[in-house]
Amino acid sequence: MHHSVNVLFIQPFIIEHYSDQETLTQMLLVWPVYLENFLKSKFRDLNCSLLYLPDEQKLGNITIKSYKDSELFAKQMDKLLNTLDFEITQNTYICLSGTTSYYYLSVKMISEYFQKHHPEGVIIFGGAHATACPDDFIYAQSPIDYIIIGEGEQVLYEIIKKNYKKQSTPKFIIGKPISELDILPPLDLSILDRYISFYQSLSICLSRGCPFNCSFCMEKTMASHNKSIKRWRSYTPKRAIEESRIMIEYAQNYGIDRIGFVDPTFGSNRKWFEEYISLWNFEAQTSAVWIETRFDILNDKLIEQLQKKNFYLWYGLESCSKRMLKIMNKNVNPSSYLKKYDKIIEKHKDLEYLVMNNVIFGHPGESEKSCAESYKVLKRIKEQDT
Ligand code: SF4
Repeated sequence: MHHSVNVLFIQPFIIEHYSDQETLTQMLLVWPVYLENFLKSKFRDLNCSLLYLPDEQKLGNITIKSYKDSELFAKQMDKLLNTLDFEITQNTYICLSGTTSYYYLSVKMISEYFQKHHPEGVIIFGGAHATACPDDFIYAQSPIDYIIIGEGEQVLYEIIKKNYKKQSTPKFIIGKPISELDILPPLDLSILDRYISFYQSLSICLSRGCPFNCSFCMEKTMASHNKSIKRWRSYTPKRAIEESRIMIEYAQNYGIDRIGFVDPTFGSNRKWFEEYISLWNFEAQTSAVWIETRFDILNDKLIEQLQKKNFYLWYGLESCSKRMLKIMNKNVNPSSYLKKYDKIIEKHKDLEYLVMNNVIFGHPGESEKSCAESYKVLKRIKEQDT
C-alpha cells in the first residue's frame, strides 16, 4: 500500500428538515468507527477522518436549504476539507453511508461536489440504502465509483489494498460479512471526538444479522448474498461485555449515561443473551440501556433481569392484525405471536416496566380493517396502563 492513503468518511445530512426527521439527527451513527477500526488494524499508515455533516449543520458550517444551493455547498465543503490533515488525491477514498432515502439528495450532492471539485478521489457508497436499493444510484454521470451491498469492512480493505481506481459507471460490490465478530479489533471510538458532545446517548452493535425474514427488512436481502454465513453473529458474551465497557467509559468521559445497542435483533440467541446479562455490571455507570429486540425471544426471568440492570426494551411488534403479520412474515404463527405479546405486556405491567413498541402502519396490504385491529389492541393497552 502506498504510504499516503487517505480515507474520508462522510455522514450525509438532511437538506430540508421536517419535524418527523428530527429523531434521525438525535442519534450518532457509528458506522465510521467500525470501518476505521478495521482498516487501521490492517494498515499501519492510513489517514482517516470523519465529516459528520448533520453536526456540521448544527455548527453552522453547512447551511444550505436546497439541492439547488450547490455553489454555496461547494464553498462550505471547501472550508471543511481545509480542516483535514490530508488533501484529496487519487489515493483518497471518500466513503458515504446512507441509512434511509431521507439522505438520498445529500449523498448525491456530496458525491457531485467531489466529482466536480476533487475528481481524483474514489467515491464509495454503502449502508442500508445502498444495500436495499443499490440501483437508486445508477444514473447517467453518477459520481459514485463503488456501491457496497452489505457489510463494508472487508470490501473496503480490498479496495484500498488493491488500489481500486475510479469507474465511469458505479460498480456494485457484494460485502463480505465478518463471520466471527471477535476477530474485529477492540472498539476505539476516538474518531467521534469532534462530534460526541452534540449527543446525549451513544449506541453500538454487539451482533449482526437476524435469523428472521420480515418482508420489509433488508436483513434477508443481506443474507441472500452470503448464504454460507450464520444468520445471527455476535461477539462472544465476554468480548461483548468488553466492547460495552469501552463504549460506556468513552460515553462517561462526555457526561453520557444513556447508551444503547442497535443490533438488528439484540440477543437473538437466548443462551448468549442470558450469559451476557449475567456478566453485565455497569448499573452504576448507566441510567438507561436501550435495546431493540423481539418480544417472542424473551421469557419472564430475562425480562426481570433486564429491568434490574436498567435495560429498556424496544419491541418490533409491527402490527396486531393477523393478516398483516402474515404478509409481513413477522412470525409463522400470528395467533401465538399476539398471545405472547399480551403476556409480555402483562409482565411489563406487573413490573411497572416501561416498554416501547414499533408499529408499522401502511405496509403494502394494509387496509382500514387491519389498521383498526392494531389500533384497538394499542388503545386497550393504553387504557389498562394506569
Ligand atoms: S426481526 Fe427485526 S431485524 Fe429481524 S428480519 Fe425482522 S425486522 Fe429485520
